[in-house]
Amino acid sequence: MKTAVICDDKIVIQSASEITLNGRLGAVVRVLGCGLCGSDIVKFVHKISKNGTVLGHEIVAQIVEINSKTDFKTGDIIVTSHHIPCGECVYCKHGNVSMCEHFKSTNIRPGGFSELVYLSEEHLQNVAHIKPDNLSNVEASFYEPLGCIVRAVKRANLLNGDRVLVVGLGSIGILTAQALNAYGMNVVGCDLLPERIEFLSKLDIDAVNVRELSGEFDAIFMTSGADKAIDTALKYVRNGGKILVFSSTPSDLAAYQNNEIYYRELTVMGSYSPSPADLKNSLELLSTGKVNVKGISTEYKLDDIQQAFDDTMSNRIMKAYIKI
Ligand SMILES: [Zn+2]
Ligand SMILES: [Zn+2]
Repeated sequence: MKTAVICDDKIVIQSASEITLNGRLGAVVRVLGCGLCGSDIVKFVHKISKNGTVLGHEIVAQIVEINSKTDFKTGDIIVTSHHIPCGECVYCKHGNVSMCEHFKSTNIRPGGFSELVYLSEEHLQNVAHIKPDNLSNVEASFYEPLGCIVRAVKRANLLNGDRVLVVGLGSIGILTAQALNAYGMNVVGCDLLPERIEFLSKLDIDAVNVRELSGEFDAIFMTSGADKAIDTALKYVRNGGKILVFSSTPSDLAAYQNNEIYYRELTVMGSYSPSPADLKNSLELLSTGKVNVKGISTEYKLDDIQQAFDDTMSNRIMKAYIKI
């Protein structure tokens, strides 16, 4: 089978031996497509993942072999995420599921940019779902990234009708604005690129250039990692408001000032990866059309995956989907 692996500063296509269950519980799935996540880019660029790693986790796939206590069967087309919380550790008990050691150690093997992938029984029982018929494969591939956003929205614990600013209108910003809107918030999105502002406006959500922002917001969702975006957040959050950090910054030293947080009684919180319940909500938002992901992705063949990485890094596209 073909896989796409990291090899120094390139992603190369390699052939690997076919995966079979070989008596294990779980399923072998044929990947139909896999979204390219911002975290894949970070792992590649900052060399966090070793050579030989197969990236990708936003998969839509068809079951080709199964041995499971679940109702899934051969031929089913499913979506799944990659990590599963244990539910019992100190992190899980406090709702910080993405910090759970078990969560971090579980994964789909070898990774989504591969023709075949092994899913454990735990994946099937907790985070896999049948792809709804009304969603295309590309649309369904937003199941995991939208799950991350659902988690961020829940963590922010906002009041219905709260005025919320989304800073950065890449694919995650566009999804975040729609999810907040679906949960009853009064949303404004901002960016510097006119085409991204226009994209959100067409979905009937207010979107403006950062330079044209005005007023104050109950909460700011930071989907841009630009250092300058921090100034935007501190300028437009109301006293006592919340800043939801939902992206990394290029510099480890980028910071929200202590005295701003103290004197203005701000809440600055991070949100990372979703729980099984968040993922379920994500699929509901997609299948009911409350979050519309049409037109966000650009499709690439597995052989062209390097191009997909390059185009994403240079902001030429909003989101890549690798058809496998
Ligand atoms: Zn992702
Ligand atoms: Zn745990």
